[in-house]
Amino acid sequence: MIKFEFYKYKIHPTSVIGAIASDASREGALLKCTWPDGKIGYSDIHPWQELGDADIDTQLMALSRGRISFLVEQSIWLARKDAILRSMMKNGFEGASRFKNHFLISDLSKITDKNLNDIKASGFSSVKIKVGNNPLEDAERSLKVLRTGHFWVRFDFNSKLDFSMFERFISILDKSSKAKIEFVEDPFPFEQKAWAEASRLVPLAADHEYDNVEWSKVKEPPFKVIVIKPARQDVDKAVNRATTFNLKMVVTSSLDHPVGMIHSALVASEIKKAYPNQLLDCGCLSLKSYKPNEFSNKIMVQGPYFTQVPGYGIGFDQTFEGLAWSDLHKE
Ligand code: MG
Repeated sequence: MIKFEFYKYKIHPTSVIGAIASDASREGALLKCTWPDGKIGYSDIHPWQELGDADIDTQLMALSRGRISFLVEQSIWLARKDAILRSMMKNGFEGASRFKNHFLISDLSKITDKNLNDIKASGFSSVKIKVGNNPLEDAERSLKVLRTGHFWVRFDFNSKLDFSMFERFISILDKSSKAKIEFVEDPFPFEQKAWAEASRLVPLAADHEYDNVEWSKVKEPPFKVIVIKPARQDVDKAVNRATTFNLKMVVTSSLDHPVGMIHSALVASEIKKAYPNQLLDCGCLSLKSYKPNEFSNKIMVQGPYFTQVPGYGIGFDQTFEGLAWSDLHKE
């Protein structure tokens, strides 16, 4: 039996971070797992109630009764990876494949030409734009980014549009701007025919809509890219599908605690090593989405790259040791 301990935390967004999230502080828990073989590993549980997850107290209560949600299942899987590295006294970034991340633009209205030049100068070659509640306004605003020619641009609609709104959005963009779109993520809820139609306009990517694809029936998916969130998804299964259908992959954090973010980065570097040509720029670098804390302060970054987190496994050794852990079984 695994011994579970937890530490509840709050993280504070620097702005409205997701198209469907607010700027209120967000709750989750760090998980410490001790296996019968003596190995110890850490991970994050960061529910998104906006996506239908149960809140953190409910997740922990269920775990204490032996019921494991898919979110907690991923957390335990990631903690085990950390535990194995720790037991070998190895840092996860040692000898790992470097991979690039995109720059996340959550609020287009605030982006200036100077910002764009700075983003380019720090080495980013792709940006992701979270489209807000005024998609047509955002289409106009995005022209500024597309026309620099500096970046591959990814749009994320979080399934908020319908087909005709999507068409209108795309029609605002001129031909050379459109050519800089790398893909559009989750334009509207997945439906094979409508997505196939939409994919004639621009390449598509499946993020949350990945779960709505009937994989056993699909012959040719109407998207070119899948977004893999190790905190929320069976990674081996997703990689398998990507190789079967010859899809590109983007690994992203789940806009979670820095511990979850670093876990996503390590999964990305593993995939980079195994499938160097199938992994596009990733979205693990979500540090700026939250106010700094004692974990984010340990993460070293250079432009679009993670460089290091000191310690064994995913790092943060002393920081983990300093936390007041609660025994899940005694709660
Ligand atoms: Mg997305």
